[in-house]
Amino acid sequence: MKKPAIFLSFALACGGAAAQGVSPADPFLRQAPAQATPTLRGVATAPTAAPAGNLNLTGMQNATFGNPRTSNNGSQTRVVFDLAPGVTYTLMPTFAGLRIDVQGARVLPAVTAALGSSVSEYRAGGGQATVVTPFPLSFTEGWRASEATLATGGRVLILEFGAVVSGGASDSLRALVRNSPPTTTAATAEANAVLNSPLGLRAAGSGTGTPGAAPATVSPPSRTTQTQTPAPVATRPTAANPDQLPPGDTVQPGKQFPPAPALPDANAARPSALTGRVAGQVQPGALLTAPRIGKNPGLTRLVLDLPPGSTYQIQPTALGLRIELTGLSVMPQNAQNVSPEVRTWRFEPTTAGVEITLVTATPTTARSGWRAQLLPPTPGSDRARLALDLSPALANLTPLAPSERLVAAVPPVPATRGTAILALSANYVQPRVVLDPGHGGRDPGAVGSVIEKEVTLNVALRVRDLLRAAGVDVVMTRDSDRALNSVKNTDLQMRAQTGSPGTQLFVSIHVNAMEANTALRGYGIETWWNPNHPMSSSLASILQRQMVGVTGAFSRGLKSNQSLSVLRNSRIPAALVEIGYASHPVDGLNLQDANYLDRVAVGIAQGIREALTSGVTAGNAVGGGGK
Ligand SMILES: [Zn+2]
Repeated sequence: MKKPAIFLSFALACGGAAAQGVSPADPFLRQAPAQATPTLRGVATAPTAAPAGNLNLTGMQNATFGNPRTSNNGSQTRVVFDLAPGVTYTLMPTFAGLRIDVQGARVLPAVTAALGSSVSEYRAGGGQATVVTPFPLSFTEGWRASEATLATGGRVLILEFGAVVSGGASDSLRALVRNSPPTTTAATAEANAVLNSPLGLRAAGSGTGTPGAAPATVSPPSRTTQTQTPAPVATRPTAANPDQLPPGDTVQPGKQFPPAPALPDANAARPSALTGRVAGQVQPGALLTAPRIGKNPGLTRLVLDLPPGSTYQIQPTALGLRIELTGLSVMPQNAQNVSPEVRTWRFEPTTAGVEITLVTATPTTARSGWRAQLLPPTPGSDRARLALDLSPALANLTPLAPSERLVAAVPPVPATRGTAILALSANYVQPRVVLDPGHGGRDPGAVGSVIEKEVTLNVALRVRDLLRAAGVDVVMTRDSDRALNSVKNTDLQMRAQTGSPGTQLFVSIHVNAMEANTALRGYGIETWWNPNHPMSSSLASILQRQMVGVTGAFSRGLKSNQSLSVLRNSRIPAALVEIGYASHPVDGLNLQDANYLDRVAVGIAQGIREALTSGVTAGNAVGGGGK
């Protein structure tokens, strides 16, 4: 569901919004050009300790802050800001991302979507910039910040974001970090305005991630100490253990978050309608009231009460959802920082009725990131209820059409030198691949809303059948609930070496998990590779793209690891797919859903087919064969 980065100009983002009545805290209003005077800033921000004595008024006319440079390394996103002389700033990790309050420079207004897989949006203006992340940040988890001095003498602020990034501010920057401010009045009111709803929604705030855990200690200010060392690069520390296990395998079964209550007659296999109409005659003068909001772990439910005769039209966008309503009107209103899944909702009157903008944690597609259902009025009311469920983990659970499940026949592939088994001609052989359903027997793998060993076997058997029907020779490391060896390292080595000479590809299938205290940050699909073979990264890339394309799941991107035993010990192009999180309340439901598993399997099978037909094979690499 990742989309290319899209830049929205200020005019487009504002869309001619009526400014009257909009709270000064409206992030869209902050795009107003060049108002970064200290006074205005003071109004907009909570009273806090700005670094004392560093306000540089003389530099303000010319110094600017913004236009960050970004780069991506796997699922990590790096954002680099140039720091003009005299610029100071404070960093504030929140559940919605990292807020940067800037002094001594004008913050360049911007609204930019999807800077990378770990930065879903960048917004700036009015003295502050916010790097919006698809996961909540604590003081030390989800981000890392440091400063560096370039060879030119220029100073830069380096921010790195990722679900597995940790560290927070570097020692020299720690004094610039402060706690999240109390929620804005609008958001608090909204959070309290929940829900004597007949839908059985949970009260606001219950069970959601804890934003900004307080730091144990705050070191004294040390603004004069600049980091002189080169910028740290976005690498994960690799474990000393050369036989590292796949991610999620070492997680102990922990507290499970209950899934959100299902809507009446909810059926995830049915695509949510993008349009709808409430029965009855339009009521002149009907007004839309603020949404009712229910917060559940990993999912936010937003309910719109629609009068008779009104219509809705939902448009998935890179920022979230846009909803056009007719048959009613509204007073402009909005709320920010509503929940980890909903950054902002905004109501605006239009000539036809109402336009609603929902800024969500990650981009949405027609089939993922959200679900909607139009429910009839409850007794005593004449308003129907449009219930919108929003979660970045909501995948496409609609059944595939038979034609979409068909994997086209795979033609013979070039033989690996000296291993022409089943030769169909002198140099071409029937392609053979190894599928490795992770775990088995006494080793269950991750245990959460599903048991990993069961899901991996389920998916692998589906992939096997799809590939065999396409003419591929499939070797399974296991096709029943068993381990290959009771010693884990031996077991992994045996898996890696399954298959005989002439085997083209090795694909290991796993389910991910997070510890209970970070469980809500883990959702989506990722693929691991190892430099065991020159074609392994290509195989991983193809598999990731195909799986995300068919499932609509959140893409956590590619990850490389030097020490994943099951990949490192393979002599052919190898990849390990993590198809979802057993520890996440929404992803866990995906993994229990036959349509999701079917889509994952088709994605893997199509990926293997694409690899085999595009030259990503054991025998087709410079120096192929590995070590
Ligand atoms: Zn595993």
